[in-house]
Amino acid sequence: MPLYLLVTNPFSSRGLSEGQIGRVAAEFAAAGSHVDIQRTLGPGDAERTTAELRREYAAIIVAGGDGTIAEVVNGLAGRHVPLGILPRGTGNVLAKELGIPHRISKAIEVILRGKTLRLDAGIAGSRRFILMASAGFDAQVTALAHRKRQGRFGYACFIIPMWRTLRKDDFPEITVEMNGRKHECFHVVVANVASYGGPFRPAPGAIYNDGEFDVVMFTGPGRWNMVRYGILACCMSNVPKDDIIRMRTDKVSLSSEAPVPVQMDGDPAGFLPRTFHVRRDEVTVIVP
Ligand SMILES: [Mg+2]
Repeated sequence: MPLYLLVTNPFSSRGLSEGQIGRVAAEFAAAGSHVDIQRTLGPGDAERTTAELRREYAAIIVAGGDGTIAEVVNGLAGRHVPLGILPRGTGNVLAKELGIPHRISKAIEVILRGKTLRLDAGIAGSRRFILMASAGFDAQVTALAHRKRQGRFGYACFIIPMWRTLRKDDFPEITVEMNGRKHECFHVVVANVASYGGPFRPAPGAIYNDGEFDVVMFTGPGRWNMVRYGILACCMSNVPKDDIIRMRTDKVSLSSEAPVPVQMDGDPAGFLPRTFHVRRDEVTVIVP
């Protein structure tokens, strides 16, 4: 009998209710499978659970958002247990990127079919990301939003932090080193996938299994440029702009003389300096 592990985060916005957990278990039982259920109670729980797996699972099913998926990816630390996704979070950037249906019964059908795909991961020290890392504006907003985080988390939680970050207008210069060259900018996105949080799409050409990051550098200073870049990133095609530099690389180092916050997969990840490199085929996911 195939055995699955369901990791569910009741604090994720739109997390699974107890009734829904019961229905998920029943659907797997009807297909001749069994699901072990692990509820996560706080940050770090999903990662610990996955790091300490005691049984052989056909797949780990994550019912949560991108933050919970990132924890499971870090818990697995390169072990190739397939990841099934029941999209339940704020952004569900990965689910959107892979075309995983939002309806629970449809997403379960995808998991039971079990078609897999391997994705690159970004590595920074011992930490992994699968969507993106960035330094500057959005990482400042993310850090502020998470400091105030209580219970369920939605896009509205980002509005006041965004306003406060713009009002402070403190965007230090960042040095980006890659492919043997140095560049200066004020906000940088290291993208592994084309999708991003909310309406933004700063790296529409990024491909999750090409062995390279799409690095997007925003070189204009100050808050009004940040606002303009935000608007541009909402409708970003690959239209060239003089002050936005795009490059591909498998290794990039970011540094700054001032303290500049970093985010990875939408969660705060300390401060610069950071070096990111691509590890190919690091994560196995179940896709439609
Ligand atoms: Mg890529």
